[in-house]
Amino acid sequence: MSIVVLPPEVASRIAAGEVVERPSSIVKELVENSLDAGASRISVEAADGGASLIRVTDNGHGIDPEELVLAFSRHATSKLPNDGEIEAVTTLGFRGEALPSIAAVADVEAISRTIEEPTAGRAHFRFGELVDQGARGAPAGTTIAVRFLFQQQPARLKFLRSKGSEAGQIANVVSHYALAYPEVAFSLRQDGRETFATTGQGKRREAAASVYGAELRAALIEVRDQSEEHSLEALVAPPSHSRGSRSYITIFINRRWVRSRSLSFAVEEAYQGLLQVRRFPLAIVDLRLPAAEVDVNVHPAKTEVRLRNERQVFTYVQRPIRSVLSGLAPVGSGPVVGWPRTEEVSPALTATSALGTPIPIEAPPLLSRPNPAPPAETTHETPAEAQPSLPAALPILRPLGQAGTTYIIAEGPTGLYLVDQHAAHERVMFERISAQQSSQNEKPTQALLSPIALELTPTQQSLISTYADALRNHGFEIESFGPGDYLLRAAPPALRREEPARALAELLDLLNRED
Ligand code: ADP
Ligand code: MG
Repeated sequence: MSIVVLPPEVASRIAAGEVVERPSSIVKELVENSLDAGASRISVEAADGGASLIRVTDNGHGIDPEELVLAFSRHATSKLPNDGEIEAVTTLGFRGEALPSIAAVADVEAISRTIEEPTAGRAHFRFGELVDQGARGAPAGTTIAVRFLFQQQPARLKFLRSKGSEAGQIANVVSHYALAYPEVAFSLRQDGRETFATTGQGKRREAAASVYGAELRAALIEVRDQSEEHSLEALVAPPSHSRGSRSYITIFINRRWVRSRSLSFAVEEAYQGLLQVRRFPLAIVDLRLPAAEVDVNVHPAKTEVRLRNERQVFTYVQRPIRSVLSGLAPVGSGPVVGWPRTEEVSPALTATSALGTPIPIEAPPLLSRPNPAPPAETTHETPAEAQPSLPAALPILRPLGQAGTTYIIAEGPTGLYLVDQHAAHERVMFERISAQQSSQNEKPTQALLSPIALELTPTQQSLISTYADALRNHGFEIESFGPGDYLLRAAPPALRREEPARALAELLDLLNRED
């Protein structure tokens, strides 16, 4: 394999664009390079959310010392097929833009040794200029260390979010690549602490357990489907393990992690009628399509792809997942199918739909999202207009039964009521917590009789650090004791009869919700 500079006509076919948006985009590019180099071990280190250090070390095939500096020139790549056919690339990279783009905005030191060479080459760039190069001893593989990110671009430095939030993005990137490549052992250290690791033994179920928690190991359901044009391998959580946000739907196309609204929606559609309102599936979908069906060159960071036949691909995803899930629960027992809509029922339905309106836990008063500006100012204040207006109390109801997984059917003075269970539960928790906050006497936190062990995803860990103050002020006492392992020592007293760990997880989902 040798590195060539793309001929101008090919280079111009590659749309120019920003590769380096934030620390996590650097991590993404470096990890992709390590994967393209055939690494079986990739370790990622970051400090201060990547602002002061990002270091990616792999045991891949390395770069020939003669070519190390060349690798940092624009449009230098070893990955394009000879005829410049972007359509035929099977590697994650192909644009030859990542290393020069990163070196332009930071201090970058690259050390790389191929298996054939006795020593490693070393090159040191500072804000686009080569400042030093040489040779040194190192194991085979590549280490790229990025420091002082954006120190000469104050405008872009300002654009970075809080360290906790950037650290969360990094964790998110690494954990998704770990799901895509279960045969690679990933590890992530942030600020000197190992927060995440996979074994690299090739089992996606194991990787998923490392990312999403051990209780999913047994619960995840395998889905496989294959035709001449495509193959699909997915791990999906049963409806009982639904989540509070869409961010647990992961799609890989030809081993590339892509954001696709349409395919996420295909997964959601597969769960139609099986989830309560505002609950979302957890699913990891590994889809392989002929390279010619997928245009990967539509986004500088390659996170979006264009599909030649999107409708068909939608079906590839939705149908097999649906058919496996429908084997679990009778389809058609959806929530309100066939419910008589008589005159008598409708007034009550109106009343209950008020109860069913989303209760804005995600807005203050419970917790508020920190803005890109320092979070401290926004954490506790409640803007008056953000106060939820609560519907009037309902009359006393007599429960009659349950419809689907969503509604409780109850009888009241004016007719039948359908109560959205999930919304009702949120409402109860919300009212208890706000009642407790308005009463001065009650202590805002209550120690748990025995602390609850929490296993948190990398994303949850960084949310906990981002919202540490707010969570503490609302009565959650959380202590970390190892990579991914936490203890919940105290919870808001309002939650004493609930499952505080589950409540905390739901809260973090709400805080993480992108939609
Ligand atoms: P691209 O990945 O699009 O080719 P990059 O700028 O990311 O462009 O990298 C340039 C070249 O440097 C790659 O084509 C590859 O030959 C080499 N390279 C970069 N990172 C590594 C690595 N970790 N291991 C081996 N080779 C690498
Ligand atoms: Mg690359």
